[in-house]
Amino acid sequence: MRIEDLLIYGKSFCHSDHVKFLLADLLNLNPLELLNHLADYVEEEKIEIFKKEIASLKNGKPLQYVIGNVNFYGNKFIVNENVLIPRFETEELVENTMKYIKENFKEDISILDIGCGSGVIGLTLKKLLPSAQVDLLDISKEALEVATKNANNLNLDVNIIESDLFQNVSKKYDIIISNPPYIKDDEEIEEIVKENEPAIALYGGPDGLNIYKRILKDIKLYLKDKYLIAFEIGMTQKNDIEKLIEENLSNSKIEVKKDLSEKDRMIFIKNFE
Ligand code: GLN
Repeated sequence: MRIEDLLIYGKSFCHSDHVKFLLADLLNLNPLELLNHLADYVEEEKIEIFKKEIASLKNGKPLQYVIGNVNFYGNKFIVNENVLIPRFETEELVENTMKYIKENFKEDISILDIGCGSGVIGLTLKKLLPSAQVDLLDISKEALEVATKNANNLNLDVNIIESDLFQNVSKKYDIIISNPPYIKDDEEIEEIVKENEPAIALYGGPDGLNIYKRILKDIKLYLKDKYLIAFEIGMTQKNDIEKLIEENLSNSKIEVKKDLSEKDRMIFIKNFE
């Protein structure tokens, strides 16, 4: 079969953009280049894989898990069912955090990414700040396997720690960053997310705030004198999280930022002007 035949085959089951992405990834081509190769023949082995992948997509598996990798902030990260698929909002969290770091800290800072999943946040920061000391932690062994592979693929020297929040942490950091699970246990979410992405990375208890509460209760012990905390948050959680911050970190300054969809999505907590 030729590339054109495979595109037609795929399109009869799945969205044509998804089919193009899948085939391009399989053949190591840019999706835009595919059209220049329509008449090329594809080896039998790859056709078999392609057909299996089309079947997975048709059965409702997210494209990113089928392909097995995503682009986050310009780098390629492996993903599988043990880690959340990174969202655009999380790229915005990294981008805003970088602005605070550049304006307020030196390059050789220490950074902790809590609930790192595939490692997109911590590893991107390490890539952007090569002299920073970056630690990534997660409670999930399976997620840490993915983060470790990503660190190796990107050639990044970081510490990867298996830990239930601060349980196995013994250092103090300049920057603590997290995109914890924050969906309410009974919240209606998209079927494809609910059915495929790990519940442990999505749900944060009855009000979605469990992990913020646990992190903020202990965080002071793990912060240096001058610090920045960066959280991704659910779009309705701003007021509740501000209250938790005031209870646990008096004298800190809070800045909330919206994502590109104008939703309250990030909270920055700092103790400097
Ligand atoms: N932002 C994710 C979603 O909308 C949720 C991830 C999280 O809970 N941190 O599905």
